[in-house]
Amino acid sequence: MINENNIEELKDILTSKKKIAIIPHRNPDGDAIGSTLGLYHVLKNLGSEAYVISPNDFPHFLAWMPGSEGIVIFENNRKEAQKLLQSVDYVFTLDFNVLLRTGDEMEYYLSNLIKPFVMIDHHQMPGDYATLTYSYPEFGSTCELLYTLLEKTQLTQYVDQKAATCIYTGIVTDSGSFRFPKTTAHTHRVVADLIDKKIENPTIHNSLFDNSTYNRLLLLGRALQNMVILPELNTSYIYLTDQELKEYKHEKGDSEGFVNYGLSIKGIDFTAFFIERKEEGIIKISLRSQGNFDVNKLARAYFEGGGHVNAAGGKSTKSLEETIAYFKEIISKHKNEFYD
Ligand code: 5GP
Ligand code: MN
Repeated sequence: MINENNIEELKDILTSKKKIAIIPHRNPDGDAIGSTLGLYHVLKNLGSEAYVISPNDFPHFLAWMPGSEGIVIFENNRKEAQKLLQSVDYVFTLDFNVLLRTGDEMEYYLSNLIKPFVMIDHHQMPGDYATLTYSYPEFGSTCELLYTLLEKTQLTQYVDQKAATCIYTGIVTDSGSFRFPKTTAHTHRVVADLIDKKIENPTIHNSLFDNSTYNRLLLLGRALQNMVILPELNTSYIYLTDQELKEYKHEKGDSEGFVNYGLSIKGIDFTAFFIERKEEGIIKISLRSQGNFDVNKLARAYFEGGGHVNAAGGKSTKSLEETIAYFKEIISKHKNEFYD
C-alpha cells in the first residue's frame, strides 16, 4: 500500500536526533493525539528532542495518555509555542491535510514559518504545504499509517509501550473499535504487534469508553430525545443547543461519539449532528454515512468542511434552526448526487 518513494528521506529525519515539533489538528481527537504522542515517544527513543504542539486543548477523555501532560497548547501559550516552532529543525503535521485545520490563527503562523514540513495523514485531497507528504486515505487512521511507516523505515523497535499505547488509542477511536470499513487484516496485524509490546488494551478501552461523567450520559439522553428521522431520505439527525450544553455542564469531548447513534437505526444510511457553539458563533456539524454515500463531498460542497467518505465535518454561521432547515433542503434536493 505504501509506495517506497521518500521512505529513506523519512528515515533520515526520524533518526537525525534533531529538534522536532509535532502538530495535530484543532479540536484533536483520539487519532490526532494518539499519532502525535506516538511519534513523540518514538522520536524521544531515537534521541531527538520532540514537542507536541496542539492548536487548542484536547478532550479530558484523552488526558490519561502517556506524554499528554507535556503537550503545549498554542492557543493558551502563544509565546512559548512560537518560540519552540522558531527553534525546531522539522515540523511534522499529523492527521490533517491542509493547514487551515489548525485554525485561522495557527494557520497564519504556520504558513509564514519557513521550516521543512512533513505531513503524515489519511484524509483525501492533501494540500501542498509539506516538503514530504505521506498521504494515504486508504488507511483507517493516521496511527495505523504511522506504525506502517515505522515498519517501512525499520524503526518499530523504537515503539515502546508508551508509544504503542498512543498508537493503539488512535486505531481504536478512528475505527470505531475495529468496526468501520477501513479496518483490515493489516490493522489487526498492527494491533497484534502493539499487544506484543505489552500495551494494556482492556485498560485503554476502559479509559476511553467507561469513564463517563453522569452529566455526559444525561447529555446523550437529551441528544437522543432530540433525534429526528426522515425515513423517506434514509436520514436522521440530532442536535444540541447551547442551553442544553450548559444545562449538562458540557466539557470538551463530552459529545464525542454521539453522532454514531443516528446511524444505528435500521434503514438509515446518513446522519448529521449539529452542535450550537455560541462562543465561536458557529454550528459545528458532524456527518456520518454507511455504504457509498459520500459525506466528504457533501461537507465540502455545503458546509466549508471535509473529511472521509463515511465521516466528515463542517460548520455553518447560520442559526441552529436555519442550519437545520438548510440541511433538510440540501438533502431533499441533492442527496442522490452524493452516492458514488
Ligand atoms: P468529526 O465529525 O468527528 O468532528 O470529524 C469527522 C471527520 O471529518 C474527521 O476526519 C475530521 O478530520 C473531519 N472534519 C471534521 N470537521 C471538519 C472541518 O471543519 N473541516 C474539514 N476539512 N474536515 C473536518
Ligand atoms: Mn484520523
